[in-house]
Amino acid sequence: MRLDNDVLKVVANCFLSEKKLRQIIMQNVDWINAQKKVSAAAVAIPLKCEKDEPNAHEEPDWQSIVHGRKTVVSGRLTNVLAGTCSKPYAEDGVLYIPEKSYQNKQSRLFAIGSYLKRVASVQVAEEAADFGSKVALCPLKIAFGDIKEYWVNCSAASKRVLRFDFRIAQLPQNLRNYVIVHGFAHMVYPIHDGEFWNYVEKYAPDFRECSSALKEYNILKNLSYKD
Ligand SMILES: [Zn+2]
Repeated sequence: MRLDNDVLKVVANCFLSEKKLRQIIMQNVDWINAQKKVSAAAVAIPLKCEKDEPNAHEEPDWQSIVHGRKTVVSGRLTNVLAGTCSKPYAEDGVLYIPEKSYQNKQSRLFAIGSYLKRVASVQVAEEAADFGSKVALCPLKIAFGDIKEYWVNCSAASKRVLRFDFRIAQLPQNLRNYVIVHGFAHMVYPIHDGEFWNYVEKYAPDFRECSSALKEYNILKNLSYKD
């Protein structure tokens, strides 16, 4: 079952009755609506490209992202190509994934997901640790999972456990900083009160802009990277 330019295409066994087919479609109505929302919101991803970059005048191509032929890394639209490598790596704005992973959509997405998880657990963990040293706060644990509901889990953060969605690796630097600051702020102020936001503002003065820009990146959470 897939949605192609707002046309639902279903491949089914020819013995299946039309009634049964309709039932199956109705059982998947949430998924269909979610796909519609994804394609409608696709054009809104605020991908930032420098003027001298080859991507600068290219529209974000949501279909390519959904099919794992492009992805977003650190706020930039990144081409995904097959490479002669055993695990995914990025070079000159291109993400190379092993040739055998490039064969089909789901294995491409799986490879991209494993790359994003690696970037999160290395680079973003380091950014968080650096911020912790700066403000003399030490979390009990920094973890990256497939959370979706949050970029950082506020209630866990108030117990000094920083749990991020691994897709944080897809955010540009200023938004990653805001999410990290937000997490650390909860280690001092558990709820979103005035003191909490004063603390956030001190280390992320553009937090209002970041907070609304983050919403536009939520669309990236609709992608599943499971094998
Ligand atoms: Zn919060």
